[in-house]
Amino acid sequence: MKPRTWFSALVLIAAAGFSSTPSASIPSPQEGAGSIALALVGGRIYVSPFQEPIKDGVVIIQDGKIVAVGRKGHVKVAEGTGMLDCSGMFIMAGFQNSHVHFTESKWNNAAQLPDGQLTSQLQGMFSQYGFTSAVDTGSMLENTLALRQRVESGEVLGPRILTAGSPLYPPNGVPYYVKSTLPPEIMKLLPQPATPAEAVQQVDEHVAQGADIIKLFTGSWVAKGQVVTMPLDVAKAAVAEAHKKGKLVFAHPSNVAGFQIALQAGVDVLAHTVEDTRGWNPSYIFQMEAHGMSLIPTLKLFVNDDNLKDILQEAHDYSQVYGQILFGTDVGFLPDYDPTQEYLLMQQAGMDFDHILDSLTTAPAKRFGESNVRGQIKAGMDADLVIVTRDPESDIRNLTRVNYTFRGGRIIYSVAER
Ligand SMILES: [Zn+2]
Repeated sequence: MKPRTWFSALVLIAAAGFSSTPSASIPSPQEGAGSIALALVGGRIYVSPFQEPIKDGVVIIQDGKIVAVGRKGHVKVAEGTGMLDCSGMFIMAGFQNSHVHFTESKWNNAAQLPDGQLTSQLQGMFSQYGFTSAVDTGSMLENTLALRQRVESGEVLGPRILTAGSPLYPPNGVPYYVKSTLPPEIMKLLPQPATPAEAVQQVDEHVAQGADIIKLFTGSWVAKGQVVTMPLDVAKAAVAEAHKKGKLVFAHPSNVAGFQIALQAGVDVLAHTVEDTRGWNPSYIFQMEAHGMSLIPTLKLFVNDDNLKDILQEAHDYSQVYGQILFGTDVGFLPDYDPTQEYLLMQQAGMDFDHILDSLTTAPAKRFGESNVRGQIKAGMDADLVIVTRDPESDIRNLTRVNYTFRGGRIIYSVAER
């Protein structure tokens, strides 16, 4: 029997996955392209950011997992395996954007929107740039969970989604840019715990309703130039409760006072660099490192700030002490989804290709306790892969020249589909 070609498998996947009409036969991302093994042949394989890449390699995927990786000629390719020629291309583990929002009106009513529309929106925001995981740090929990459900059922193609649901704000501390978009009756409903007991209760509710992480505004811009901080005992109680439930805590610091509260409360991930750098002391970097706090720089967000130089310095200093940096862009809040400028700014902050790739792959896997399933191209890991057409090491902008994005062995974006 003639071995099934990759092309016919691709057509099947495309027909099933990119159709806008629901069909019961669509494979779930876990099932991938069924049990057909697929070999990605040729190309440079970045097994892991700090490891020498394999120059002319082969990756074999089957049932949503990576089953083998190595140099061409050294990996056994079984008969009947589909082939995808990747000569001249560059293969990396799927990227994670650790700071996003599903708050734009186009996500409203995610449970009811057509499959094709959601797939196309997720491709526009994530898959076309190689993102196979996205961490939502603030949205309407119920709606984001509905969106995730649509993706996990296989009817919509998209990244793995983790969500904080609604953040916890200081009392009377909803940021002005959130306030301006919401009617007052909804505003009042946003969690603003005034006591440690209220914080514990709200964390418990979030977790019970399905939140994956907890997000705190330890410093909140209530007006331009004015930050309100979360009481330290409230922040501490929220963090302790989240940790008891096995959840990571992200914080929006805004200024040095907001940063200090995050640090003292034991927050795991700073969702931004400290924007108002007045009073910032470079020695804080060592405290963050000692506390094992990760940093999501979100540099593009601050590109018009007068003190951008100081903000870049913060990110630079943290990367120099090998503090853990997670890639994140605040897309959804920022309407421009293209990560190119963030990559360039990270470079400007002194991060090289290896370190930027780490922030996209191995670092988030480690932070989320998932190093055994994602972040590297290794047998046994989920087949989450990004294939770009030009060398990202020689020009960081090439990270966005994506030809294919695979999640769980299934193509969730291909340039040919555009
Ligand atoms: Zn944000």
